[in-house]
Amino acid sequence: MSLLSPTWTALLYLIAAICFVLALKGLSSPKSARRGNLIGAAGALVAVVTVFLSMKLDNIPWILAAIAVGSAVAAPIARRVQMTQMPQLVALFNGVGGGAAALVALLELPHTDDPWVRLAIVFTLLVGAVSFAGSLVTFAKLQELMTTRPVVFPGLPIVMSASVLVAVAASVAIIFTGAGWLAVVLLVFGLLTGVLLVLPVGGADVPIVISLLNAFTGLAVAASGFVLGNVLLIIAGTLVGASGTILTRAMASAMGRSVTGILFGAFKGGSTAGSTVASDRPVRSSSAEDVAVLLGYAQKVVIVPGYGLAVAQGQHTVAELQGELESRGIEVVFGIHPVAGRMPGHMNVLLAEANVPYESLKEMGEVNPEFKTADVVLVVGANDVVNPAAKTTPGSPIYGMPILEVDSARQVVFLKRSMRPGFAGIENELLFEPQTTLLFGDAKESLGKVLAAVKAL
Ligand code: NDP
Repeated sequence: MSLLSPTWTALLYLIAAICFVLALKGLSSPKSARRGNLIGAAGALVAVVTVFLSMKLDNIPWILAAIAVGSAVAAPIARRVQMTQMPQLVALFNGVGGGAAALVALLELPHTDDPWVRLAIVFTLLVGAVSFAGSLVTFAKLQELMTTRPVVFPGLPIVMSASVLVAVAASVAIIFTGAGWLAVVLLVFGLLTGVLLVLPVGGADVPIVISLLNAFTGLAVAASGFVLGNVLLIIAGTLVGASGTILTRAMASAMGRSVTGILFGAFKGGSTAGSTVASDRPVRSSSAEDVAVLLGYAQKVVIVPGYGLAVAQGQHTVAELQGELESRGIEVVFGIHPVAGRMPGHMNVLLAEANVPYESLKEMGEVNPEFKTADVVLVVGANDVVNPAAKTTPGSPIYGMPILEVDSARQVVFLKRSMRPGFAGIENELLFEPQTTLLFGDAKESLGKVLAAVKAL
């Protein structure tokens, strides 16, 4: 017997749904993101407890065991993961969500002969399987368990089209016959389609595909809500589907790409991942003391943080350097590129952690006109987001991506460890320009040395 009346169940689902909406609202700003996350988790808890109290469940020990195993695996991974590995983690968790929705649909097929429910079942199966398999491939790419370059082979578009056709044909047949073996065929071809969809995507575009697959998982979960007659699953899935779609579009436009170009560009021979080989062309390099003199006698400094700052965990040192320069009357702002780092807003989160004031963070459109008037631009572990090839070199993997126009500054100092390229694997001509100098070394160490040298001025 269930412990909750349908009215109480509906009310608690409504509360959970409101929590999910508030969670998304909170996640829209670094200031409120932590609170948003907690509200979302509380909503999920309310939802799970409501299910236990409102439904007659047959296999409670098994369900509890599955929850215990899932939590025991996921919690330590989520705790230990580095911020820079977050996209992979999201990919993995997202894939599992899609896979779970597909399994639910598979198990529900024998229990219905309603063609509309079967339609929801085939949709969940197909989209969930695509999301599961695609997410595993994106995980493998970002974790560098496989090549990050686009993987294409002759006939790929034909194999892909055939796989989609078989999946669609199986779906139609399932709606009319309800045959269980066809559902297995659909699952297999859904998985194959997911793999083939992501293989041709190059490294730099993979996080956008994660976001797209996230939207797919949301849609699969929403459809599984129709299958199970659960309103909350429909709401939660729709929210994930919608926010994933918005994020995909925002990331694609920040990188100057179309979503179809990302998914199918490699079919046409375009590559989005270049080499990882260090350039041996000569560059001008400086010591920390030289950089300190440049900074210490400047009036205005723009700091451009990138992925390397996150890797080096140099956010606190860069915040200290900002404080030291400001105490000397020097104006310091941070130029934030929307895709600097490895996830949208990565730099905002990183610098917020070090209590850099929000007023110091300037978005791309706002800071670009300021580079001309800056005395020094300090590029800390960033590369692609300041690479002028995005404006000047048609055919470059980043061509068309809006960049921070650091090349218009009087003096540019790059803090990086070597002459290896950034994520897109292409050389940055700005490194060889006369106004540029390099301070080689780990970003955190270099910043520490520069800070000490500025203090000694
Ligand atoms: P890049 O990956 O282009 O460059 C990072 C730079 O940091 C490299 O030049 C590297 O050089 C240096 N670096 C790495 N580790 C350290 C360290 N410990 N100390 C000092 N330097 C270090 O980063 P950007 O932030 O400029 O660009 C982000 C890239 O990621 C773009 O291509 C973007 O499209 C892509 N991307 C971002 C997404 C997002 O949402 N943020 C999503 C999808 C893709 P070296 O090895 O010599 O030290």
